[in-house]
Amino acid sequence: MAAESEQSAPAGPAGVPAGIKTRRTALGTHLFDRRTGMNLFIDQPRADEPAPLAPRQVSVALTNACDLRCSYCYAPKTPGRHDSAIVVSWAKELDAHGCFGVGFGGGEPTLLAGFPELCQLVAAQTGLAVTFTTHGHHLTASLCSQLAGAVHFIRISMDGVGQTYERLRGRSFGALLDRLAVVRDVAPFGINVVVNEWTVRELGQVADVAARAGARELLLLPQQPTARRHGIDDVALSEMRSWLHRYRGPLAVTLGATGIEGLPAIAPVPGEQPLEAYAHITADGVLKRTSYHAGGLPIGKDGVMAALSVLQAAGATL
Ligand code: SF4
Repeated sequence: MAAESEQSAPAGPAGVPAGIKTRRTALGTHLFDRRTGMNLFIDQPRADEPAPLAPRQVSVALTNACDLRCSYCYAPKTPGRHDSAIVVSWAKELDAHGCFGVGFGGGEPTLLAGFPELCQLVAAQTGLAVTFTTHGHHLTASLCSQLAGAVHFIRISMDGVGQTYERLRGRSFGALLDRLAVVRDVAPFGINVVVNEWTVRELGQVADVAARAGARELLLLPQQPTARRHGIDDVALSEMRSWLHRYRGPLAVTLGATGIEGLPAIAPVPGEQPLEAYAHITADGVLKRTSYHAGGLPIGKDGVMAALSVLQAAGATL
């Protein structure tokens, strides 16, 4: 498939086919195609000093609002939402500095007024892959038709199946399955699972349901401590580890970056430092190392890259 597009697309800079983004680091060149998700890293260290790079992936909490009340939710309960124009301006800046993708989240991103239009603008005006994470219950046929062609991957939360899901998320599991049947026509999608003492026993069922629905990927997110809930306990973590070793199904299984110490994870890009790989922007405009991180820096009028350089220089103190 990549060979076909290489033959039909006009060549971009330095012979790279149009539509494929390149990212040059000290250790090599990373190529990415948002249309297929293809990643290729050419391991060829450079002698010259690379230009400052944006993180490879940036998540943006579009709003703190959500109509669900999951006990392990770590999204701030303070008001906060972004204006689409500022998000588009950040996306353009990140795109120009080598970022590959922006992931919208929250809260619940589909509650932001103008959400589909925002996705359309970012997809049309940048080369970024547009993804978002959602509880899925607002993915109506009408919203999906507006999102088709404007998003490249969708992440849908499914914490357990049947009654476990309904107790934890407070919504009908059948209704979620109905939404999955619609979303598969919009973009490739994956399933996110918050792993805790209840959901860990149902990982196999979640993976089976996800595969039958047409998901490509299963993202395991060990539960993090919040004001109302403890983090994943050692027993559940051990059960998750055993399940990972046993799983032989068709889904690509990936792990959230937090709480996976000792698990068999492979860094996607060799030698990549944390802020080169990822950063998060909160719903009130603070650039952080991760969505769980306590520190961060408000993004000023001089933009995301200026805030990033301060964050990089501050090391772990900010
Ligand atoms: S759906 Fe997500 S944002 Fe909403 S309460 Fe649950 S965990 Fe929080």
